[in-house]
Amino acid sequence: MTAASGDRVQSDGTIAIVGAGFAGTMVSVHLLRRASDPLRIILIERHPERFCRGVAYSTREDCHLLNVRAGDMSAFPNYPDDFLQWALDRQHDLAGSFPGHEVSPHAFLPRRIYGEYLHGVFKRALAGARPGVDLALVYDEVVDIVASDGLQILKLRSGNMIQAHRVVLALGNFPPADPPVADDSFYRSTRYWRNPWLERGSPITNRDEACLIIGSGLTMVDLAISLHDRDFQGRIHVVSRHGRLPPVHCASSENLCRVDFGEEPLTVRSLLRRFRTQLRTGQGWRSLISAVRPCTALIWSSLPLREKRRFLRHLRTFWDNHRHQLAPVAAEKLHVMIDSGRLTVHAGRVERFVEDEHGVDVTIRLRGSGERKVLRVDRVVNCTGSECDYRKLKHPLTENLIRRGMAVPDFLSFGLAVAPDGALINAEGCASEFLFTLGPPRKGTLWETTAVPEIRGQALQLAERLLTSLPRHAAARVREPAEPVASVRD
Ligand SMILES: Cc1cc2nc3c(=O)[nH]c(=O)nc-3n(C[C@H](O)[C@H](O)[C@H](O)COP(=O)(O)OP(=O)(O)OC[C@H]3O[C@@H](n4cnc5c(N)ncnc54)[C@H](O)[C@@H]3O)c2cc1C
Repeated sequence: MTAASGDRVQSDGTIAIVGAGFAGTMVSVHLLRRASDPLRIILIERHPERFCRGVAYSTREDCHLLNVRAGDMSAFPNYPDDFLQWALDRQHDLAGSFPGHEVSPHAFLPRRIYGEYLHGVFKRALAGARPGVDLALVYDEVVDIVASDGLQILKLRSGNMIQAHRVVLALGNFPPADPPVADDSFYRSTRYWRNPWLERGSPITNRDEACLIIGSGLTMVDLAISLHDRDFQGRIHVVSRHGRLPPVHCASSENLCRVDFGEEPLTVRSLLRRFRTQLRTGQGWRSLISAVRPCTALIWSSLPLREKRRFLRHLRTFWDNHRHQLAPVAAEKLHVMIDSGRLTVHAGRVERFVEDEHGVDVTIRLRGSGERKVLRVDRVVNCTGSECDYRKLKHPLTENLIRRGMAVPDFLSFGLAVAPDGALINAEGCASEFLFTLGPPRKGTLWETTAVPEIRGQALQLAERLLTSLPRHAAARVREPAEPVASVRD
């Protein structure tokens, strides 16, 4: 591996990957493992600490757990036990990270450990690459891409440029949008923490202060249990539209059931009917969700746009609330906080912030009664989840691509419009031969595309697609790689 300076890099077969989270790392890994002819891969990441880890796995806090069982977190679709085997081989070394919790297929391990696994996967792929297959790592931000003579020129924040034949946008999750309020001046205050995933450490330094967390999903849980583990003695208020906490995973995996989708055309109504019928047979809802998950993308793509909109209007909150489940250990800590009165969940909307020298009064309008309640707090943290509407993002690269018609948001404004192979669709409706994406930007097209079990398959398919589609003079032959061999010590 070379640490590229970001100067103009010229090569016959160059693939640039923007973003080194799980998605970008795994596309690089498959390229390294599969290319048999000379190939240059350039992996560009704007936050060095996120290299190989991305937003989710760069946390240093062991209380931040995976929300998927170890047995389902392999980085390779063809080797389902790779992560589990890696963790079992290191059971002894890892024990200090989560005392009392054995590595098993059902365990929810710390996300930090998963980041280490990904780093190991990357290092092994790099070490095993054929001569001439090279990877350069660039720490910089890609702010624009322009086409010139069949090449893509990537412009970096530093002013440097990179040339490539193909570009993969592995951009991942974006920070949440500010909740809409009439006077948004508070959002410039130091008492407001906009991006729960960016800042290091905790915004809450005084263990007796009061804070308001907006959003009651898994990011809120991360923050609350970090505070719990630091013996926080202050008050935590949580506000979300429905005031629902994520449900807890079963202690062990439920039996997978089969869902019969029948022959009639799929509609939201018919899907709901089938779900209800299945539930009446005594089937647990968790196993139903697990059974549907592998075919969610297929179901989603066969629904007409009208039906997708109907689903989003009536069932989205319900689906999100059941689909994103909490590790039992995290749930226990959360309930300790609730039972001791240190954490209170409100159902409602934030309406107003009035800040003074000593704190901020936050008015929330309660769901149902419409009554208003004023909470006096020291901090406000936005945990409302990733913003997916690309028209609203403050992200120079996507702003520029959309402005020039090289990319367009999908019809539902959940991501970018893409072809089935991940090629970006431009403003004329044509699929690009040069620009591709995977993971969260494909949400509008696939719906379920933000977690490892979905992205790992996309990464493999995209790498194969890229290797077989490079221009003839730059084509890289594909080789059949050896097994990942998780047990090899890094
Ligand atoms: C807090 C959290 C916990 C999660 N836990 C789990 C879990 O337990 N199990 C699971 O399966 N999934 C989990 N997920 C889902 C997660 O989305 C996926 O697992 C996966 O990590 C997504 O990887 P990614 O590479 O697409 O995105 P990201 O991890 O967001 O990586 C994208 C990277 O691109 C970089 N980038 C963006 N724009 C540019 C640019 N212009 N130039 C250079 N670099 C750029 C970013 O800095 C970032 O590092 C979690 C998500 C979050 C946010």
